[in-house]
Amino acid sequence: MNILVTGGLGFIGSHTCVELIANQHQVVIVDNLVNSKPEVLDRIEKLTGVRPRFYPVDVTDSCALEAVFATHPELDGVIHFAGLKAVGESVEKPIAYYYNNLVSTMVLVDACVTHRVNRIIFSSSATVYGDQPSPYREDMALMKTTNPYGETKAVSERILSDVAGANPTLAVTLLRYFNPVGAHPSGLLGEDPSGIPNNLMPYVSKVARGVLPILKIFGDDYPTPDGTGVRDYIHVVDLAKGHVKAVESDIQGVKVYNLGTGKGISVMEIVNAYAAVNGVEIPYEIAPRRPGDLASYYADAGKARDELGWVASLSLEDMVRDAYRFETSNSHL
Ligand code: NAD
Ligand code: UDP
Repeated sequence: MNILVTGGLGFIGSHTCVELIANQHQVVIVDNLVNSKPEVLDRIEKLTGVRPRFYPVDVTDSCALEAVFATHPELDGVIHFAGLKAVGESVEKPIAYYYNNLVSTMVLVDACVTHRVNRIIFSSSATVYGDQPSPYREDMALMKTTNPYGETKAVSERILSDVAGANPTLAVTLLRYFNPVGAHPSGLLGEDPSGIPNNLMPYVSKVARGVLPILKIFGDDYPTPDGTGVRDYIHVVDLAKGHVKAVESDIQGVKVYNLGTGKGISVMEIVNAYAAVNGVEIPYEIAPRRPGDLASYYADAGKARDELGWVASLSLEDMVRDAYRFETSNSHL
């Protein structure tokens, strides 16, 4: 199939492009490089032998996006990764987040309808479930989101569902990711946040390499087995493969799938696995809970297994090994 990948030079998008190409799909990438580097395109080419067409276009720019659609009448579908994703920053800059994430979704779906590109796959997040008991199931009612980033995901889901309702030939797949981590096993692609990372795994990687002195573990008094927060970490290559399954599945209307492993892992387990697998020390201290954090959540991954034929197969060891390999690789972006 011919797939337009917005945000295709980012962390999850780049891995997905590699998996799409490996499965004989043709990829066109749109990315405004706000959180990625052009060298990622070289890495995709190095890994696949194919250099996808790339447009340095902002998805909120309807004229520029229209030109991409007009140039590529062969498109069968779109995967929409492009978006801003830092929760804390979204609280400080709500307009930037609402504008970028919502306008991009509206401009893109409008172009899809105009050009009869009848398949959209959207990067949503487990954050739309809000605070309720795990495992999270796709048929649960969604609770109130707690920050502008999460709200852009909830509203984008609604926008896409409403447009699909008005256009019965449009198939929309909403993929709710849990906690994507790790990197490509080659060490060529990975998560490369600028500045001090907010998320656990990239922070641990910087501590492991000695770039940051110590990890703060945000709370050890949660009602979890070891008191630290529990999340459903999923290897980014597994996540990327989930997108290939979603692209290839025969979906009508609106479908929602969790992409997670179904297993909760604590902060302490991540730290211990990272140290043991990579033979490194991770100095840490216990710090106060981070405001807004939930104690524990993880997916019910059964629907994606049953309907898409997708299950996450990579282990915690794979996640921490590949994260460290990317961090220490000479080819670090
Ligand atoms: P990322 O920042 O690495 O990738 C996003 C890409 O989109 C970047 O390359 C950025 O330059 C590009 N981009 C942003 N706004 C754009 C715009 N207006 N026009 C064109 N390009 C634009 O992030 P990621 O981790 O790969 O996440 C991809 C998607 O998955 C995002 O929508 C994110 O919200 C969602 N998501 C991520 C996580 C996570 O933990 N990484 C969890 C749940 C959902
Ligand atoms: N965490 C931590 N120290 C850090 C970053 C994160 O203890 O420097 C914890 C956080 O409290 C949560 C887990 O690690 O329990 C995952 O946090 P992350 O920000 O990676 O993802 P979230 O699930 O919050 O989106």
